[in-house]
Amino acid sequence: MTEPLPRFEDILEIVSGYNPGCDEDLLRRAYVYSAMAHRGQVRVSGEPYLVHPLEVSRILAEMHLDEVAIATGLLHDLLEDTWVTEEELESQFGEHITGLVKALTKITTMEQSYAAREAAQAENVRRMLLASIVDVRVILVKLADRLHNMRTLGFLPEDRRKRIAAETMEIYAPIAHRLGMGRLKAELEDLALAYQHPDEYRRLTEQLQQREEMAASLIAQIRTTITGILEENSLPAEVRGRIKHLYSIWTKLRRQGIGLDRVYDFLAFRLIVDTVPHCYAALGLIHQLWRPVPGRIKDYIAMPKPNAYQSLHTSVIGPEGQPFEVQIRTRDMDEIAERGIAAHWLYKEGRQPGHDAERVSWLHSLVEGHQENPRDFLNSLKLNLYPEEVYTFTPKGEVFAFARGATPIDFAYRVHTEVGHHCVGARINGKLVPLRTALANGDIVEILTSTNQVPSRDWLDIAVSGRAQNKIRAWLNRGEKEQAVEAGRRLFDRECRKLGLRVKEFREDGRMAKLASDHGFGKEDDLLAAIGCGRLSLRDVLVPLVRTKPPQPPPPPGARARGAVADGSVITVRGQRDLLTFRAQCCNPLPGDEIVGYVTRGRGVAVHAANCPNIRKLLFTSEREVEVEWGGVTGAFAVPLHVGFEDRPGMLASLSQAANGEDANIRSCHLATNEDRLGTADLVVEVDGRSHLDRVFTALRHIDGVTSVEVSLTTPERRLRAL
Ligand code: MN
Repeated sequence: MTEPLPRFEDILEIVSGYNPGCDEDLLRRAYVYSAMAHRGQVRVSGEPYLVHPLEVSRILAEMHLDEVAIATGLLHDLLEDTWVTEEELESQFGEHITGLVKALTKITTMEQSYAAREAAQAENVRRMLLASIVDVRVILVKLADRLHNMRTLGFLPEDRRKRIAAETMEIYAPIAHRLGMGRLKAELEDLALAYQHPDEYRRLTEQLQQREEMAASLIAQIRTTITGILEENSLPAEVRGRIKHLYSIWTKLRRQGIGLDRVYDFLAFRLIVDTVPHCYAALGLIHQLWRPVPGRIKDYIAMPKPNAYQSLHTSVIGPEGQPFEVQIRTRDMDEIAERGIAAHWLYKEGRQPGHDAERVSWLHSLVEGHQENPRDFLNSLKLNLYPEEVYTFTPKGEVFAFARGATPIDFAYRVHTEVGHHCVGARINGKLVPLRTALANGDIVEILTSTNQVPSRDWLDIAVSGRAQNKIRAWLNRGEKEQAVEAGRRLFDRECRKLGLRVKEFREDGRMAKLASDHGFGKEDDLLAAIGCGRLSLRDVLVPLVRTKPPQPPPPPGARARGAVADGSVITVRGQRDLLTFRAQCCNPLPGDEIVGYVTRGRGVAVHAANCPNIRKLLFTSEREVEVEWGGVTGAFAVPLHVGFEDRPGMLASLSQAANGEDANIRSCHLATNEDRLGTADLVVEVDGRSHLDRVFTALRHIDGVTSVEVSLTTPERRLRAL
């Protein structure tokens, strides 16, 4: 309607320009046949439908493709949109071209059935498209088709515009990128952006227009400078300056969250030189002119990108302090960068030998099995870019990719772990198959389940995916695991009881969960299982539990006396002066004794004599031990003593005199005798320390008739040990 109808003769002229010996008859027949079949059809734009296949074939001619590709472009919509049958087409154009048109029709079907509305599926759809295509020309025609559809997208209603633009961005621009077709990819992205984000697109276009004059003079100025220094150094080069394509500016602005005002590197320069050494020489000269931005120098010549892109990149700080990008590469590299795989499909006649080998070399990285003749090589290419994978569908059209050899078991576990566990069989493309069946590209897989089914050990041989293998193993190990959990729980609870730790509290206040995650386990049971089967030492587990006590309320006033004899001692914990301490009743340490502190639950630090047997037992883990020291002694220590003697008159007086003789006050005294005339005295004496007590001991032992003197044993355990 707006554009003049493209003339077939124009296309023919382009083709004969690069391929003088082309099969003109084939192209003419294809054109006439297409015109006939599409007669009367119109596009949404109101144009005759024929405009579309003509434009597609012109794009293919501009890619310099061969006549088979261009004829396919002319015929590509016939099977889908006209009365022409496969047989009809084959009788006219043979098996080969018909095969290409059929492949294109199949892609359209895939698009419709499995429209990739979720970005997560896009990669799979891309891969599936590439893997299912046996001739590289199919994808080239498809991309040309999509490019023309994008160029004329404005005529469609908005919802379709948005959907097709999204599909282009998710599926076809990445495929163009993967195939190294930089120019086509850039155009697809710009067109998609215009329809996906029309407002932002318009604003950005306006902003760039405002800067066009400034940019043009800046480009001219920089180009003159670059050309100058290259000429001075006799380095022939073509220097191009340009504004980057819109989509790349847009993503940059998005990523950096800044406005166009602050972005100068929407400018990019490209130097096309003769040889690889010239590339590096030119890079050196650019860096002489302007300071490079650190970290922005990229050598894709030494390390090509996966799509075989080669170039040197640098960003420099320009004459006005604005950074801009410079790309340096040879003509051949430039051709590959712009046209990618299409550069390898150029019609070969009339081209200089020697270039081809270099051009084709990048395909080594994509496919193995390179043959000497590039033409043969490309014919045999099969474009199997992901040969190790198969793409399968759920009945709802979701795509799952697997390694080759995957079976319905892998598929079942991919759907859901429970589906995997209960998988009893599968239907592939509607047909019941054994679980060992290898999945093939394009299979629609339906899993049959039964609640009675459980995984068996031989499934490990059938499944190939790591996911399925892990899930099956986990299920098989579960029985063993339950036992380990039990054993671990028993050990853990027992040791906690011994330490006076309350397991129930740990569970309730979340410390158990934290403990498990600290050791790298998701659940308490996993931690206990690790203890139960001995993979984890119980000691390692308990140490942090003892350390990470939740804050305790201060003990009630009476707590200090509990288990201790009231006295005026001051014992400090090294480094932590405000910790509550008390002397342990079992050993009653006195000033002068070597002491150790033991952190109790909620009662502060119990201070034991270093040689107290209890403390050695308590310090199952030394982590609860703290260093303590005697502070200033402000009063006397009451020490309960137990004295044994042979009964005689005046014993009480003798005991009292002995204590008084050493300046030790007796606070209380209780005497008892039995029928055997053996007596005991329990008295509490006040001393100021260990040496004082020792003197009292000596004095008591010297009393005539006294058989034993010892510190009272106040716990049943201690009494028992003393017997
Ligand atoms: Mn089409």
